[in-house]
Amino acid sequence: MTKPCIICVAITGSLPTKANNPAVPITVSEQVESTHEAFEAGASIVHAHVRNDDETPSSDPEKFARLKEGLEKHCPGMIVQFSTGGRSGAGQARGAMLPLRPDMASLSVGSNNFPTRVYENPPELVDWLAAEMLAHDVKPEIEAFDLSHILKAKDMADRGQLKGTPYVQFVMGVKNAMPVDRDVFDYYIRTVHRLFGPDAPWCAAGIGKHQITLNEWAIAAGGHARTGLEDNVRLDRDRLAPSNAALVRRAVEMCEKNARPVATWQEARAILGLRLPAEAEVAA
Ligand SMILES: [Zn+2]
Repeated sequence: MTKPCIICVAITGSLPTKANNPAVPITVSEQVESTHEAFEAGASIVHAHVRNDDETPSSDPEKFARLKEGLEKHCPGMIVQFSTGGRSGAGQARGAMLPLRPDMASLSVGSNNFPTRVYENPPELVDWLAAEMLAHDVKPEIEAFDLSHILKAKDMADRGQLKGTPYVQFVMGVKNAMPVDRDVFDYYIRTVHRLFGPDAPWCAAGIGKHQITLNEWAIAAGGHARTGLEDNVRLDRDRLAPSNAALVRRAVEMCEKNARPVATWQEARAILGLRLPAEAEVAA
């Protein structure tokens, strides 16, 4: 049987604004509504940042708490992944929402350049974020902006710093970081399989116009796919994406073309080794 494909929707991010695309959800209620539509369209993971009302990035745990509550109510079963990325806050503020016990959180394990600055992830902060995730039973998604980040994840897994088999996301097409390069992509997959086993799941994200390319590559190669307005606000060169759900539907169509069933939230939780929501209730 062909492996189901997990579709992750990155709904907001810390950069795009309503001026870039009015469909970018900013307030918590807009975020819940946009995620609900994307969930119905086939997404089983929501990757989320929170914003202030003036659209600037925030790392306020109270906002994350309201978002988690809304998502659990309106998208029951969906995997909630919070961003601990460096555009939303500085230092340990990046992980201040981890005690809320989201299912997952993004974890950058090394530094690299971004379009206009250095994306700083110092070793002691990476260790602290990983320890907080372990303490609160949050599964990290390793953001691999570079090959060294995949090998760093292996080192951390060997030291017992990560929960379960590392789930690595290849990020390509960020200016000044790893470009969209097919040979590198194939080598990333080989590296994940060599380090974490032939069945280790992995995911890929492309930025801007590269979102389509990385969705196609990942779906055809047996990986999982991330889409959403955080990474790309356009449907094609001439049209803005009308919603997060529209981008999810595009990924679903690619799955159909590649004979990949779209993973339900139950299948996605099984693939990633995540607790079921009911168990979370009991544990809390
Ligand atoms: Zn993000």
